[in-house]
Amino acid sequence: MELKRCARCGKFYASDVEVCQECEKKDFADLSKLKGFFADNYVSGVSKNEISAFTGISARNLNRYLGYEEFSGIYITEDASGINSEISEGKISL
Ligand SMILES: [Zn+2]
Repeated sequence: MELKRCARCGKFYASDVEVCQECEKKDFADLSKLKGFFADNYVSGVSKNEISAFTGISARNLNRYLGYEEFSGIYITEDASGINSEISEGKISL
């Protein structure tokens, strides 16, 4: 294990994961909200701002989550003007 800086609060901690133990719980809560959003409320062309407003997840954390492997198939636009051409169904399941 090496000393790392928490991606969420900036605290130094020793672990193999991306965030400190305190933030791990918050990340977990955010991620379930995000997965719930994709399962129930996802619409094609939704923007990061809209997801952030809907879920209460900060833009910074949202960007971090969207870089995760499990969300790699989902294309989210930076703002509301984009059209999502990769997912035409309008709904996806994780
Ligand atoms: Zn932290």
